[in-house]
Amino acid sequence: MTDEAVRQENDRPDARPLGEVDILWLNGGLGCDGESVAMTGATQPSVEDLVLGALPGLPRVRLHNPFLAYENGEEFLSLFRRAAEGSLEPFILVVEGSIPDEGNKAEGYWASFGADALTGQPITTNEWVDRLAPRAWAVMAVGTCAAYGGIHAMQGNPTGAMGLADYLGRDWKSKAGIPVVNVPGCPTMPDNITETLLYLLYQAAARAPMIPLDESLRPTWLFTETVHEGCDRGGYYEQAQFAEEYGSRHCIVKLGCWGPVVQCNVGKRGWMAGVGGCPNVGGICIGCTMPGFPDKFMPFMDQPPGSLLSSHAVMTYGRAIHALRRFTQDSLNKEPEWRRRKVSSKQ
Ligand code: SF4
Ligand code: SF4
Repeated sequence: MTDEAVRQENDRPDARPLGEVDILWLNGGLGCDGESVAMTGATQPSVEDLVLGALPGLPRVRLHNPFLAYENGEEFLSLFRRAAEGSLEPFILVVEGSIPDEGNKAEGYWASFGADALTGQPITTNEWVDRLAPRAWAVMAVGTCAAYGGIHAMQGNPTGAMGLADYLGRDWKSKAGIPVVNVPGCPTMPDNITETLLYLLYQAAARAPMIPLDESLRPTWLFTETVHEGCDRGGYYEQAQFAEEYGSRHCIVKLGCWGPVVQCNVGKRGWMAGVGGCPNVGGICIGCTMPGFPDKFMPFMDQPPGSLLSSHAVMTYGRAIHALRRFTQDSLNKEPEWRRRKVSSKQ
C-alpha cells in the first residue's frame, strides 16, 4: 500500500495519531498465563523494544500485565478501574484466557479478576470485558483460549467457555473500528504476540493501514501459510521418507502431524530467536492455532485421516524420485574430467 493510501485509510476521526497508549492485559479468562510467559521470549520485537521506545514512530507505550507488573493489589487494579470509568484512554485491551458463560449456573462464578472495592466481591472477567471493551481503542485476544475457547471449550464444556469474538459478537468493532484481533496458539508464538501489538501501535500512530485479518480474525501475514509450507522436514515428506518413531529426522506425518493443513508460521519463523518450531524439532503439529482445536485434531498422535491419501500419493513417486536423485548426486559429487592432471605421453 502506498503512503497516500495509508494516509487515506487513516483519514478518519478515530484514526488521529496517538502519542501514547496504555496496554491493559486482562489475564482473568480461563487460561494458564501461557501467553504472558511466552511473550517474555519475544525478540522481533521484544517486549523491551515496545515499552522502552526502541522503535521509531511508535506511540509511547505503558504495558500493564499482572504477570509482569511490579505493582500488585489495588495499586495495579486501579488502572483497570480508571479505564472502566473512562478516565484512562486511549488503551489497547489484551485478553488472555477464554470467556466463560456466567449465566449457565445458579450461583458462583467461573472466572474473576480483582474484587469490588465496596462489596469485596469478585469482579468477574465477563464484567471487566463488558466495561473495558467498549472503551478500548483496539482489542486483542491472545492465545487460542481467548481467540476461540481452546481447551476449556472442548466438547462437554461445563463452563460454557468461548472465544472473545464469540462473546462480543463476530461483527463487534472497537472504538477505532477494528474487529477483535485474534492471535492464536497454545501458547502463542512469542513474536506473533509482539509483532501484532507492534502493528496495532503503528496503526495507532497512523503509520499503518487497517490491520488485515482473515475470516477467523487472525493477522493474514502471520496465519495464511501452513506449517508444512515452511517445515524443515518438507524435503523428507516429498521423498516419502516417513518416521515410524520419534527421534527420526524424517517427516512425522505418520506420527500425527497436522502441518499440511494447519495455518501457522512457526515452521518458517521458529519459536524463539528463529530457533525451534514444533515439527522442526520433532514435535507433531496438533493444530493449536486453528478454531477447531482441540476437538477436530483428536485423538492426538494418530495419523491425520487426510494424510493417509496424500502420503500414499507421495509414496508412488517420492521413493523413485529419491532413488533417481542419488544417481544425479553421485555424478554431481565428481569433478569434471578435464580438471584432472593430464599425464603427458612424452614424459
Ligand atoms: Fe509436513 Fe509435518 Fe512432515 Fe513437517 S513434519 S513436512 S509439517 S507433515
Ligand atoms: Fe501449534 Fe502446530 Fe503451530 Fe506448533 S506448529 S504452534 S502445534 S499450530
